[in-house]
Amino acid sequence: MSLSEPRPLAAPSRRWATLVNEERLGALADLLAAVVPSGAFLALSGELGAGKTTFVKRFAAALGIDPAEVVSPTFGLIHEHAGPHGRLVHADLYRLAHVADLGETGWDDAVRDASYVCVEWPERVAPALPADRIEIELRCDGPESRTVLVAGHGAAAAAIDRLPEPLFG
Ligand code: ADP
Ligand code: MG
Repeated sequence: MSLSEPRPLAAPSRRWATLVNEERLGALADLLAAVVPSGAFLALSGELGAGKTTFVKRFAAALGIDPAEVVSPTFGLIHEHAGPHGRLVHADLYRLAHVADLGETGWDDAVRDASYVCVEWPERVAPALPADRIEIELRCDGPESRTVLVAGHGAAAAAIDRLPEPLFG
């Protein structure tokens, strides 16, 4: 291919799995914590109760942060947790009315130089999401079962390529 030709956009790297219970969600969080590089941005989507916050708790635990620190924010949309592998930012943007309001939340300062960013309700700030990101979509199949789709976009595709296929042999 000559330099003047536009490069085709690389398809995101994907994995999916059925998480039969919360333990499996924890196992997924462990797998991801082992492959994502410092500076990773994780966008978590799924309806209320799908397990987004539960995932962040388990991801934090895998990074050596006390999972009890990770809660659904009652005030303030952004929480920061210091850990042995750096700073984890946890944002829950459910209550954010418009992407233009993001500046008032302290987003820019929080996300800058964060080691890991986990965002619930990323749809609220779609234009502000980095191109290099991991998208995790959780869907409820039953009281305990979830279907998860994990997609690595841009430079984050390399991390997803390091995950086993299938995720759970
Ligand atoms: P969200 O942040 O998506 O609104 P939460 O993580 O706060 O959801 O709540 C998910 C609830 O579902 C928790 O009470 C959790 O214990 C429960 N749950 C049951 N099975 C699973 C599973 N397989 N994965 C994640 N959460 C599960
Ligand atoms: Mg939540």
